[in-house]
Amino acid sequence: MNKLVFATNNKHKLEELRAIVGDKYDILGLRDIGCDVDIPETATTLEGNALIKAQFVKEHYGYDCFADDTGLEVEALNGAPGVYSARYAGPECDSANNMALLLQNMADKDNRKARFRTVIALVKGDDTMLFEGIVEGAILREGAGENGFGYDPIFEPEACGLSFAQMDSASKNAISHRGRATQKLINYLKSL
Ligand code: IMP
Repeated sequence: MNKLVFATNNKHKLEELRAIVGDKYDILGLRDIGCDVDIPETATTLEGNALIKAQFVKEHYGYDCFADDTGLEVEALNGAPGVYSARYAGPECDSANNMALLLQNMADKDNRKARFRTVIALVKGDDTMLFEGIVEGAILREGAGENGFGYDPIFEPEACGLSFAQMDSASKNAISHRGRATQKLINYLKSL
């Protein structure tokens, strides 16, 4: 079976992907290849960070690899927090801090438009490819719902009437940024 590394240690992400890809590829996580390095995400774009991670694994471990990076892009904030979504309120801050800062910065904004964007970079042999998934939506005035993670309580996907945190994971995955980017990657891998 073809071995392919997903540059993550997130068990949930790995299991989800293994289930969809089927038995054509043996999907390995970073731990499976003995990589415990915290690969520095120093780029200023999602594309750049996804590429850094995938290329790091190819270069140091020799495996074909893909990596993802996600950001929440808010129109009234010129695309912020974007590539800095995980550490919007500071390096030591958690999701609650990030959401609080975002709601504060959006307090006087009538334009609530936002989107989640995921970029997956695939390095396979000598080829490099990018796959993008986007979900359009809006920033709520206050959090709603308990499910999910990150900014889910304050993001309402278009024409849904519910925040991501009010949806079950299957409903979220069916329309989410990550779900859409992942589907593009999988369609490509299956076409080979
Ligand atoms: P990552 O690139 O998947 O680590 O995502 C970067 C940051 O974006 C995370 O730390 C979260 O704050 C946020 N994020 C990514 N995906 C989601 C999502 O599906 N819902 C809510 N927040 C997300």
